[in-house]
Amino acid sequence: MVLSMRIVNNIKTLYAMIVMLGAVGCAPQTEFEVATWHGFKQCAISYTMEDSYDNQFTTALPIFYEHDYPCTFFVTTRWCDRTKWDALRVATTEKGCEVGSHTVDHAVYDTLSKERQKQDILDANARINVKLPMYKCNTFAYTDCVVGDTSIISKHYFAARGCHGYVERATPSDYLNISSIMCGSNEAVRTLDDFIYAFNTARSSGGWCIFSLYDIDDGAGYSPLSSKVLRQSLDYLKEQEKSNSFWVTTFKNAAKYSKERDRAVATVENDKMKSDDSRMPKVTDNNKLIISLEDGLDDELYDIPLTLRCPLPFGWKEVEVLQNEVVIKSEIKTINGCKYIIFDAVPDGNKKIYLINLG
Ligand SMILES: [Zn+2]
Repeated sequence: MVLSMRIVNNIKTLYAMIVMLGAVGCAPQTEFEVATWHGFKQCAISYTMEDSYDNQFTTALPIFYEHDYPCTFFVTTRWCDRTKWDALRVATTEKGCEVGSHTVDHAVYDTLSKERQKQDILDANARINVKLPMYKCNTFAYTDCVVGDTSIISKHYFAARGCHGYVERATPSDYLNISSIMCGSNEAVRTLDDFIYAFNTARSSGGWCIFSLYDIDDGAGYSPLSSKVLRQSLDYLKEQEKSNSFWVTTFKNAAKYSKERDRAVATVENDKMKSDDSRMPKVTDNNKLIISLEDGLDDELYDIPLTLRCPLPFGWKEVEVLQNEVVIKSEIKTINGCKYIIFDAVPDGNKKIYLINLG
């Protein structure tokens, strides 16, 4: 009996030591970490389609809808008829899809003078604007992977897609020539295994995998991809959702997230307010954290929420998070023995974030 009590006591001591070590290992309570990708997913995946082939609208788009994943259309405006514009209107307003420009009639920009490139950009944007008045197009995909005059491109688009054929890094070296991987019968990615290989490369590198799709199935356009393979690739991503590996999102959302994440700084404002502003109510109590999240970017364009986490302050159990006086989704999660508050917030220094202890 004596012996077994000693063992129990030793176990208790050991347990207490582990708890202490665990506490020591947790980050300071006011330290914020911005997720590399939304929801602390390991990588980002974007499906982009170009050239506005019929089958993209009749075959591919319904497959994206079935899986509840958004996609990006880089449209060649003269190749879109009324039916396609109608589909794009629904896709952008109701399904979170993106419309970027892929020129008026697929002119390759190195064959155009600067003046004509500029005119082509203005004409394509004007057309998109007339057909989708509620939508702001601000991304571009180069035709035939040929980069245009980036001094003109950058005035109209904050990100442009090229086709280097590799998985892009979490921070692209050039936002005006972001790599994509070409798909379909004429290109490297055409089977489910090819897609899975690209997914795994993105996951292990923490990067951003952008696919360029052209025609689908038996279409007469460039490099058709089997819709069966497209569906299988999305099935695979759906099955993997519980592993929190892949953020399937549009080209523009991932580009915005990447820029915001690299620049965002979270600052706890409690102390500052105490000293600088005597009109503020008492904020020094231990039940509230006031945070400013700022990225120095144009708030009108860079409006994608970032995912953040910070250790749960000592003694807090249930937390409510507000930004700009609106309650935002948050959760408490235990990671490596430390409890964290995880939440999504838009980086905008004017929209203060409140973490409130509900006890
Ligand atoms: Zn094209």
